[in-house]
Amino acid sequence: MTTASAPQALIRADHICVRFSGAEVLHDVSVTIQPAEIVTIVGPNGSGKSTLLRALLGIVPLTKGRVSRAADLRLGYVPQKLALDRSLPMTVRRFLSLPRRVSDDRAKAALQRVGLEGVDRLEMAALSGGQLQRVLLARALLTDPQILLLDEPTQGLDQPGEAAFYRLIEEVRSDTGAAILMVSHDLHVVMAASDRVICLNGHVCCEGTPAVVSSAPEYRALFGLGTQGALALYRHVHDHDHSQPQDHAHDHTCHPSHGHQHDHV
Ligand code: ADP
Ligand code: MG
Repeated sequence: MTTASAPQALIRADHICVRFSGAEVLHDVSVTIQPAEIVTIVGPNGSGKSTLLRALLGIVPLTKGRVSRAADLRLGYVPQKLALDRSLPMTVRRFLSLPRRVSDDRAKAALQRVGLEGVDRLEMAALSGGQLQRVLLARALLTDPQILLLDEPTQGLDQPGEAAFYRLIEEVRSDTGAAILMVSHDLHVVMAASDRVICLNGHVCCEGTPAVVSSAPEYRALFGLGTQGALALYRHVHDHDHSQPQDHAHDHTCHPSHGHQHDHV
């Protein structure tokens, strides 16, 4: 679907609400993703990040609002949890041909793109965490997507692995022009190359440009060395406290322009 109001946008959610068995998981969320943007979603566990991606994909029913996608939009999606039985034998090459067969050339090119040449005959179960994430990314790239939706793609990776994955994502964006919408597994760390960060907690708490890595010594120690800035800290200071038990997902007053703070390394 293309909307007259946003002909450029790849995906757009307008005031969407999602409810699961009575509980409102997303309330009045509006998000627009433009071509070639890198947008990172952060938020606590259960804040609706995965649900938002699924709503944008059109695989979750909305109780209010609407989602529009550009006509014939090519999407690549890497879900948070891979429904793959690791005990079943399956080579990387075969995995890349699921659910649709791809040619050897395309499979090879996709693996090359993610820096994994020559792993086609390895068993999926034999891959390291970092290799598995790259294979998942390679499979998502097979459709030549205009947008990649990646749900916590660096979960389980160590810090150099995460930095390397983020660098790869930047390369993919600059080589293919694909937009990236990624959920970060860490509330405080996002890709330095993120054009925009959306903080979600049932609603959009705040949203803005991360102005690269914090200067705080403890973060420098963790992320500042050896990564050439591929990892950034986006530290935002809430104007409201989510730890309060009486807090309800949509009772907050949000002040996007005051809701976050950026530091430079
Ligand atoms: P996040 O990705 O931020 O951790 P989720 O979007 O996975 O959060 O989940 C948000 C809330 O919605 C959680 O309370 C979760 O239990 C609930 N939820 C997610 N998917 C479903 C579903 N298919 N059916 C019922 N509840 C769900
Ligand atoms: Mg999730």
